[in-house]
Amino acid sequence: MRDINVGHKFLADYQSIIFKDLMTEIRELAAPLQGRRVLHVNATSFGGGVAEILYTLLPLMNDVGLQAEWQVLTADNEFFNVTKSFHNGLQGAPVELTGKVRSTYEDVNRRNAAQLSGHYDFVVIHDPQPCAMRAWTATDGEAATRWIWRCHIDTSTPDRALYDYLLPFIRRYDRAIYTMADYAPDGLGIPLEVVPPAIDPLAPKNMTLVPDDAHYIVRQFGIDVDRPLLLQVSRFDPWKDPLGVVDAYRLVKARWPEVQLALIGSMASDDPEGWEYLEKLHRYVGGDPDVYVLSNLDNIGSVEVNAFQSHAAVVLQKSTREGFGLTVSEGLWKARPVVAGNVGGIPLQIEDGVTGFLVDSSAACAERCLEILDRPEWARSMARKGKEHVREHFLTPRLLRDYLRIFNELLADGA
Ligand code: UDP
Repeated sequence: MRDINVGHKFLADYQSIIFKDLMTEIRELAAPLQGRRVLHVNATSFGGGVAEILYTLLPLMNDVGLQAEWQVLTADNEFFNVTKSFHNGLQGAPVELTGKVRSTYEDVNRRNAAQLSGHYDFVVIHDPQPCAMRAWTATDGEAATRWIWRCHIDTSTPDRALYDYLLPFIRRYDRAIYTMADYAPDGLGIPLEVVPPAIDPLAPKNMTLVPDDAHYIVRQFGIDVDRPLLLQVSRFDPWKDPLGVVDAYRLVKARWPEVQLALIGSMASDDPEGWEYLEKLHRYVGGDPDVYVLSNLDNIGSVEVNAFQSHAAVVLQKSTREGFGLTVSEGLWKARPVVAGNVGGIPLQIEDGVTGFLVDSSAACAERCLEILDRPEWARSMARKGKEHVREHFLTPRLLRDYLRIFNELLADGA
């Protein structure tokens, strides 16, 4: 296990952004939890939505009086290959659950569990990679630790054999948290909470950038700021459908020849498939000079992602499966028109035709992009409604409130 240092953030800084009642509620819920120790465990400190969330949630938990820590599993590529297949399997792809696969998964979880030390009041385990750790941790009697499994994935139609294998591990937890109620398959066997994730409006990724600064940044990557830009920011992963995005872009380009496309994807250390898929994407793009495939390897960090999202004429998230899709809230928060797959947690964020567009195909995606390019003022007014929806539902203080509520409930239950 490896400690991740998250630095400091202050809830008071969010005062002018969120509703006053939420601030009061957070303070009230935090009062009985002063000094309580919380450990979050996940698989990676970089790339993907979970790391993104923990970098904000933890400092805010600390600021309201808890002692929150974050540790990341230590594991080799073989383990991450296995857990990537689990991730895909939980989203419905078939999984080969051989003895070797099981032992790779269990050995890493056992080894990491053995490294846990000290007492925690709450341990929050994120996603399937460290899920089995709970099986090899001591239960500590009166000073009980409450164990929470936070599943960020849409597991409503999982590979059944994989789910049956994981279920005994999940059932050792006191609570499960899912983004949507129907993500939890029948017969979970432990109490369920429904909590969607959130974005940090004050993080470098989401803070306000004036257009001149955004232009300056995107120009560095070759973008012509006077021509419209379509953008998707996502891991290079088939479920995010970057090839479908290229198809949609080609359809748009047939009518708007000046349009450009940027596909930005960080390469996460727990995502070995990403490299292969990146190659495939490059081949698919085939050297089109108006398509920019960029990643953290090109020095795209949070501020650069912010600049692209703030500047884009359309923010896309054309996923075919999506637990939540933080990038949707990120685009809406910047008041950009967003066109996204009508799947998973995306409809929580977009009301079709009101705060953005939901689509089921590349052709529909292209149609909506064209409408936005044709009617930019109307599209912006829709996007501004989207921003208010994000303010109300998908900013980190709301997520903090939900965790505090669950911690209080677990203490009250004596679970
Ligand atoms: N992200 C990033 N750089 C990239 C690709 C993704 O910073 O090149 C961020 C993105 O802005 C978002 C998160 O990673 O905050 C992805 O979260 P999401 O829920 O959209 O997808 P996940 O990767 O968790 O499936």
